[in-house]
Amino acid sequence: MKEQLQLLWKLQTVEQQIDEAQKEQDSYPLALEELQEMLKAQEEKREDEKRKIEECEKERLKKEGELDLENERIKRSQLKLLEIKTNKEYQALLQEIEGSKERNGQREEEIIKLLDEIDQLKSNYTGTVEKTQKERLVIEEEISKIKDKMATVEQDLLHLQQSKEEIVPVLDSALLKRYNTLKEKKNGTAIVLVKNEGCQGCFVNIPPQMYNEVQKNKEIILCPNCHRILYWENNPTD
Ligand SMILES: [Zn+2]
Repeated sequence: MKEQLQLLWKLQTVEQQIDEAQKEQDSYPLALEELQEMLKAQEEKREDEKRKIEECEKERLKKEGELDLENERIKRSQLKLLEIKTNKEYQALLQEIEGSKERNGQREEEIIKLLDEIDQLKSNYTGTVEKTQKERLVIEEEISKIKDKMATVEQDLLHLQQSKEEIVPVLDSALLKRYNTLKEKKNGTAIVLVKNEGCQGCFVNIPPQMYNEVQKNKEIILCPNCHRILYWENNPTD
C-alpha cells in the first residue's frame, strides 16, 4: 500500500502540473492575437496617415491645375482687350478678368494652406514611422518569446502525459476510481499531505492514533474532517 500511496501522490502532482501547463497553453493564443492586433493597428495608423498626405497632394495638384487654366484665360482675355471696339464690351471683359484674378487669389491661399497641412502631415508621419518601428520591435520580440514558451509548454505536457501514462496502469484500479471520485468532489485534490499532526487539505488536526497510522502509509486513511486520503511523505522508516 505504501507504494500505491506514493504512486497516487505522484499521479496527483503530475495531474496538477498538467492542469497548470494546459492553462498556460490556453492563454497563449489570445496573447498572440492581441500582439498581432497591435501590429495591425500600427500598420493601419501608418496607412491612414499616408493616405491623408496623398489626398492633400491630390487636392493641391487639382488647385494648381485650376490656377494655371485660369491664368491662361486671363492672358487670353487681356489680349482680347486690345481688339475690343466698344466700351461696354471692354468693361464686361475687364470685369471678367477681375473675377478670374479674384478666384485665383483664393486658390493661391488655399494652395498655401494645403502646403502647410502637407508639411505638418509629413512630419507627423515621420514621427509615427519612427515610433511604430520601435514599438514593432518590442511587439515582435514578445511574439517570439510567446512562441518559445508555447514550444516549451508543449514539450512539458508531453513529458507529463508520459509520466501519467506510466503511473496509471500500475495503480490499483479501485484506488484509482476512488481517487478520481474524490478529486472531482474535492476541487482537484484527493490526496493530501499530513504535517505537524494536521491535514494539509483542510488544516484540521487529526487524532494522535490516526497520525501514527498515517505515518506508516500502510492503509487508506481518510481525513475525518475533509475526507481526503491522507499521505505521509518522507517516512523515516523508508
Ligand atoms: Zn482534511
